[in-house]
Amino acid sequence: MWLKALVELIFPAPIVCQLCQQQIVDEGLPACKHCLDSLNLSFTQLQLQKYQGFTLSVYQGRIKQILNEIKYHNNYRAAVVMGEILGLAAKEQTCLQCIDYLAPVPLHMSRIKQRGFNQTEAFAKGMNRVWRRPVIEVIRQKNTIPQNDLTAKERVKNMKNAFLICNPEKIKSKHVLIIDDIFTTGATFNALADLISNYQASPIGLFLTQTK
Ligand SMILES: [Zn+2]
Repeated sequence: MWLKALVELIFPAPIVCQLCQQQIVDEGLPACKHCLDSLNLSFTQLQLQKYQGFTLSVYQGRIKQILNEIKYHNNYRAAVVMGEILGLAAKEQTCLQCIDYLAPVPLHMSRIKQRGFNQTEAFAKGMNRVWRRPVIEVIRQKNTIPQNDLTAKERVKNMKNAFLICNPEKIKSKHVLIIDDIFTTGATFNALADLISNYQASPIGLFLTQTK
């Protein structure tokens, strides 16, 4: 038994890619090269009115498929890998070196019960493996209705008073990076960013994808 442990210590078992379950991951990378190539990643600034926000890709193709696996087939490991990718991207950007806290956009408890986990918290966990930043706890106190079929105006109304920051005194004068999976109209992001601003903190957004 100890000999097996010793051999594994000297020659660690190759790590299988958590996105495709097929290829081997090279040391220091979050996923296999084949998967990383297929994601079409590019750190891009979003054109927002009130706040700064960035995205890594467009919500289509392989990344859309992975997000569906995460959200509708409970693929937690894939979510952590996507978080590592977000963390590695953030680490490289001079505009994000000011970040003091991560704020993964929370889900309402009823949604977490359905899904088993919150994908944005899994992203923050993955990010922290490569780029250490404490997470600020935010609660979704209102069970908002899914935004897909709402107009932009209805989305803003739907998100009103949706969030609560647990220890707001911590974030005063700090830079807080709001983490979410998909940027669409920004109604969710603005609601949380406005709340963070109310506590004299500076919110910035980082989204895995944006809809076209
Ligand atoms: Zn792969």
